[in-house]
Amino acid sequence: MRFASLGSGSRGNATLVEAGGVRVLVDSGFPARELERRLALLGVAADSLAAILVTHEHADHIRGLGAVARRYRLPVWCTAGTYSRGRCGELPRLHIFNSHGERIGIGGLNILPFPVPHDAREPCQFRFDGDGKRFGMLTDSGCITPHIVETLRGCDGLLLECNHDTGMLREGPYPPRLQARVGGQFGHLNNVQAAQLLEQVQPERLRHLLAAHLSEKNNAPELAREALLSAAPVVEGCLTVASQDGITPWLEL
Ligand SMILES: [Zn+2]
Ligand SMILES: [Zn+2]
Repeated sequence: MRFASLGSGSRGNATLVEAGGVRVLVDSGFPARELERRLALLGVAADSLAAILVTHEHADHIRGLGAVARRYRLPVWCTAGTYSRGRCGELPRLHIFNSHGERIGIGGLNILPFPVPHDAREPCQFRFDGDGKRFGMLTDSGCITPHIVETLRGCDGLLLECNHDTGMLREGPYPPRLQARVGGQFGHLNNVQAAQLLEQVQPERLRHLLAAHLSEKNNAPELAREALLSAAPVVEGCLTVASQDGITPWLEL
């Protein structure tokens, strides 16, 4: 099993996951041509994707979704809530799932969606099991729930939101209303919340930890790194920070 970020942050998110003989894309938050360019940097052609899984309908997760899905006739999986907002565009091969315990099987990849507190209609994140390994993702979550902790415990790889530093958010350029949204229960995880989650999910098992969805205005890679390492020094050798403008290499579990 391996995974890679094609870019992460408030201007676009997309993640590749490969195991069990298939390759899927989670979110398609870049314009179609840009997504294709980033895929090509990893030697991946869009028509080799078995599916696109969608976490929620915010633009930074679905910007290129309809165009890519139509161009390559790719199956798209999303919750009824996400689809019902009408922002996904026309999708030729739509699959609806519910995010409360229903598993999705694609090739040899077993996918467990789980709900997260975020200000979208039916937002979820995913855990993947395949090739004897486990990879979990958590971004766009305003807080940590016991169910999230339980679902992400014991992963070999983890992509974890470190959206903002609370001090930088408070002193930063966002107007008060937006600050309240981002920092609220249905907004985004700050560095301390991410570190607290990390402590609770057996970080010593991780082969790769990818800090993701960092705000370019309200966070800095060093701050995210510092917070995660102070909570779990054991991840020092396996911590990568995703960026908005670049991809990560394949991270092998
Ligand atoms: Zn987002
Ligand atoms: Zn969002």
